[in-house]
Amino acid sequence: MAHAFLSKRIVTPQGTQPGALLLEGEKIRAICRPSEIPPHAVTHDCGNDALLPGLVDTHVHINQPGRTEWEGFRTATRAAAAGGYTTLVDMPLNCLPETTTVDALEEKRAAAQGECFVDWAPWGGAVADNQQHILPLARAGVLGFKCFLIYPGCDGFTMIDQQQLEAALPFIAESGLPLLVHAELAGPIDAATDGLLYADWRSYATYLASRPDQAELEAIRLMIRLCRRYRFRLHIVHLSTSLALEELRAARAEGLPITVETCPHYLHFAAEEIADGATLLKCAPPIRSKENQQQLWRGLRDGTIDMVVTDHSPCPPAMKREDIGRFDLAWGGIAGISLALSIIHTECSRRGFTLDNIVRWMSSAPAALAGISHRAGTLEAGRDANFVIFDTEAEFTVTADKLHYRHVISPYLNERLRGVVKATYLRGSAVYREDAFAAEPLGREVTL
Ligand SMILES: [Zn+2]
Repeated sequence: MAHAFLSKRIVTPQGTQPGALLLEGEKIRAICRPSEIPPHAVTHDCGNDALLPGLVDTHVHINQPGRTEWEGFRTATRAAAAGGYTTLVDMPLNCLPETTTVDALEEKRAAAQGECFVDWAPWGGAVADNQQHILPLARAGVLGFKCFLIYPGCDGFTMIDQQQLEAALPFIAESGLPLLVHAELAGPIDAATDGLLYADWRSYATYLASRPDQAELEAIRLMIRLCRRYRFRLHIVHLSTSLALEELRAARAEGLPITVETCPHYLHFAAEEIADGATLLKCAPPIRSKENQQQLWRGLRDGTIDMVVTDHSPCPPAMKREDIGRFDLAWGGIAGISLALSIIHTECSRRGFTLDNIVRWMSSAPAALAGISHRAGTLEAGRDANFVIFDTEAEFTVTADKLHYRHVISPYLNERLRGVVKATYLRGSAVYREDAFAAEPLGREVTL
């Protein structure tokens, strides 16, 4: 049965245009004029709502298997569907076992089976001692690798030092897959933290001072040098410091294969506005100044930052230590996948950005990073029929019932946001519509 979705604003790679999105089975058959809709097609009129490609989030911590009490495939993908996402790529840490061997990858696949409301794919880990597992993981279907240049907060997934990294890089380069790097170095952080032993750790200023820009800047400089030497696809995750933008721009101008992401919380919150004890806003690298935030938006505008992904990183509420409000003791990570589109749309409405910008940052560019542009990331004939019906005018107040992930805590509670996901379609089927989810989880693993 063919279906046609009529909209005044369909966001395509050629721009936003009125027309009809014509589906056949699980695929997009065409984007056509209303007069070209075949007579037998079932027509759905989306009125003033926009049609966007399903969003792709390449930075999600699903934590299953092993820490399913933090999050899990069922809850994370449900929240993703409510947020307009149709594909998630899962980070290899925080789950047990960590995704650093093919055996561990198979355990993750078994855990995901029949649990996913949207499609998913795995990143593999590059840790201190798994260099010999890089190419087997690539052959087994991970879309790329993640590494930490600093202690990642959990013991099992080890940080990688320069020597260990250089032992892995020839294999990563050979795989052709991207290396996603948590770019902070311990040196500047340890030096800063030494001076804060007796500081007030309920104060956000203390936490911010403990993770200086310099830690990111030095890590990014190291990675640019290594990228020049080994010529692998380098991706900087969750860029927080705007001080690195100029060097990243220059490295890309030199022709190095570098991409950069930032996250909604860096684009929406600013250090000056974070109350003491507000540990829900602890993440690493930290949310920095208002001026820094403006520069990140400039980085998006000029293309130095390619994409906006969530770094959805939940934990059990007690671990955020809101009881004592100490930033040194709280878990670092912000959950928010169900709200990201509305947050970014709200910010973009104020700043003169368009739906085309949002789609590039939140769908096409992450799909390209993950190597799955043939399936997702644009509304074009032949792609999977993954799309979002998005009301750009409606506003809502964030309440816990809008979050849909396992632990419904959020620093965005009570905020007024503009833009509501009315429905999310995965391969032609509504997985989320008007606050209700598909009866069956229809998500599958996406492969290259
Ligand atoms: Zn993360």
